[in-house]
Amino acid sequence: MSTVAEMPVTRDPNMYFAGELGMEALLDRVLVIEDEFRSGYECMHCHEKGTLKCDQCEGSGKHRAIEHAKCSECNGVGKLQCPQCKGKGMLLEIPDAAKRRPTSGQIVSLGSEVKNVSMGDFVVFPNFCGEVYDLSGIDSGGVEQTVVLRIIKEREIICRITGHLKLRRVSHKSEVTG
Ligand SMILES: [Zn+2]
Ligand SMILES: [Zn+2]
Repeated sequence: MSTVAEMPVTRDPNMYFAGELGMEALLDRVLVIEDEFRSGYECMHCHEKGTLKCDQCEGSGKHRAIEHAKCSECNGVGKLQCPQCKGKGMLLEIPDAAKRRPTSGQIVSLGSEVKNVSMGDFVVFPNFCGEVYDLSGIDSGGVEQTVVLRIIKEREIICRITGHLKLRRVSHKSEVTG
């Protein structure tokens, strides 16, 4: 359409983009990208993929001895179903309702009245606050990604956290063993 203005070459750093859609926090609000839900029951055997590389053909799908023949182990696919999770990538299925538990994320846009947190901070916030948007788009590598964007008020933030990736890994491990 000729009426649509051209996208500016430089993008406002306070604007969060999911594809062509840009969103910016106003006043006392912040935009937070929620952390991915980790149940602690992700299959580590296949790294949540549900499949493993076929040993027989080392992923090529080709027969080792007979030229132009398929690998008999994986039927030419090169991958086999993970025996640990039976292809689900999860050792236990978590209902969607229960997935709305974690509530940490990273700030990607700040309103003009926000004083106590900064761009890029990791924060914890209550489960039920603000407005939640599921956004999907194609990343720079051409892979479809979905992010959960939440718009909350600064005063709803419980605390700022650091060392948070390490923390998540620890809690993940204890959930598996405990
Ligand atoms: Zn698995
Ligand atoms: Zn194979």
